[in-house]
Amino acid sequence: MRFAILSDVHANLEALEAVLADARGRNCTDFVCLGDVVGYNANPHECVERIRELDCPIVKGNHDEQAALLESSSDFNPVAERAIQWTRDNLSEEDRKWLRDLPLQRQVRDFTIVHATLDTPSQWGYVFNNLDAAASFAYQHTGVCFFGHTHVAMVFMRENGEIKRERMEYVRIKPNTKYFINTGSVGQPRDGDWRAAYCIYDFERNLVQQLRIKYDLEAAQKKIIKAGLPPLLAERLAIGR
Ligand code: ZN
Repeated sequence: MRFAILSDVHANLEALEAVLADARGRNCTDFVCLGDVVGYNANPHECVERIRELDCPIVKGNHDEQAALLESSSDFNPVAERAIQWTRDNLSEEDRKWLRDLPLQRQVRDFTIVHATLDTPSQWGYVFNNLDAAASFAYQHTGVCFFGHTHVAMVFMRENGEIKRERMEYVRIKPNTKYFINTGSVGQPRDGDWRAAYCIYDFERNLVQQLRIKYDLEAAQKKIIKAGLPPLLAERLAIGR
């Protein structure tokens, strides 16, 4: 089994389609989604549709949660808030119900998936350092867990009580180590690289690969402007921030 693991699509249809095509070209047999299907970019309904068609395991992100409500209950910054209001207006009632009903975490085969953290998944904390990772590891009962939310691809490893953080293209999964792996973001990377990020987990070979894929950035930017979303959202895509 080869899993394509996607996170933080954020309504970027061009990036999502490029990643799905790439994953199929690399013989992925299964898909997994780590949430934040919507928010920021211009194709929330289409992205919900594509992900639903995959019929894959998925967890809820904070933007999914906010888009499913009638009014925001969280303190998003003004740009994210404008985007989430626009997103609500551009989703069907069925899309919103589907988003509302997503679970916060789940197990797939022998690994776990969550959007933000395992210690308090409903509070949407960010895991950037070893201390944040330690809190999550305390609640991780599988060898491997994939997460998103930071939009920065990163691997945390815990071995003999010691936590290490690395950015690596290939992660070889060893039995006595725990892995908390951020796949990066499909639709709005924030590590200075504009290309869409995702992971492939080769289950039989115990190997995780982190990939970057080019997509039609200009088309995605034009749609943001045409939709009347904040232009900043188009600008940031080009610089990966
Ligand atoms: Zn996100």
